[in-house]
Amino acid sequence: MQACISLGGNMGDVADTFRKTLRQLKNTTGVAHVEASRLYQSVPVGTDAGRPFLNAAATLDTSLTPIELLRLLQQIENSHQRIRETHWGPRTLDLDLILFGDQTVATPELTIPHPHCWYRRFVVDPLAEVAPEARHPEFELSVSQLKDVLYTNDFHIAVRGPDDLLIRLPELNRNFSSEFPGVLLLPFSEANSENSRQIVVSFLAADETPRPFRLRGRVDTAEQFLRDVLSAARGQVTQVANFT
Ligand code: ADP
Ligand code: MG
Repeated sequence: MQACISLGGNMGDVADTFRKTLRQLKNTTGVAHVEASRLYQSVPVGTDAGRPFLNAAATLDTSLTPIELLRLLQQIENSHQRIRETHWGPRTLDLDLILFGDQTVATPELTIPHPHCWYRRFVVDPLAEVAPEARHPEFELSVSQLKDVLYTNDFHIAVRGPDDLLIRLPELNRNFSSEFPGVLLLPFSEANSENSRQIVVSFLAADETPRPFRLRGRVDTAEQFLRDVLSAARGQVTQVANFT
């Protein structure tokens, strides 16, 4: 099965960590044809930006099951966590399992496709380089189509939530307007339901099962959640180098 993974990090010599990660993957029984994208840098948008993140994506062929592959990725992450162990926050390495053939998995430990992959330019851009034809089984789009949508979407976000949140949407629009020009939050009831690519963010505890372009957030951190989504969707991602 072909799997797609994403690599990220902003601590230590990240390019070197990525190189070692690829070597660790290649040396694993049941993993073959590891192919990596170039190195990308995502400019952190927002106030507590910190150091820029470096990102990459890789494809591999594997006879492991999805959960075995997740465990392998976690083992590799752990082997790179040793630098500055006392320091909380930024990580040396984050490995996420994005796609696993056309399989979907929904367990407490593992969700495939990765539920946050589709709006994150720092995932989609590198992945489009190594696996443009890979298909997102729930969205029924290829990675390169997903990238097109991400870059052309008007980002009118339909919000489902309690009334006291919906009442605050004009205020949130004002807060976001300079940072994310063109983005518009509007109540779900006023959204264009004809648009199958309409982004819907729900802050209702029990809501319908997620469908394409849907996200669910916690209402007590709604503003931060929306900010994180918009940063990932609108933040600049640049190619910086080859690293292999
Ligand atoms: P994040 O990647 O969201 O910043 P972590 O790397 O700490 O956070 O992962 C948190 C948890 O996400 C892991 O314990 C793992 O079990 C779970 N998880 C669920 N689906 C996936 C996936 N597709 N890829 C990686 N981790 C996943
Ligand atoms: Mg992770």
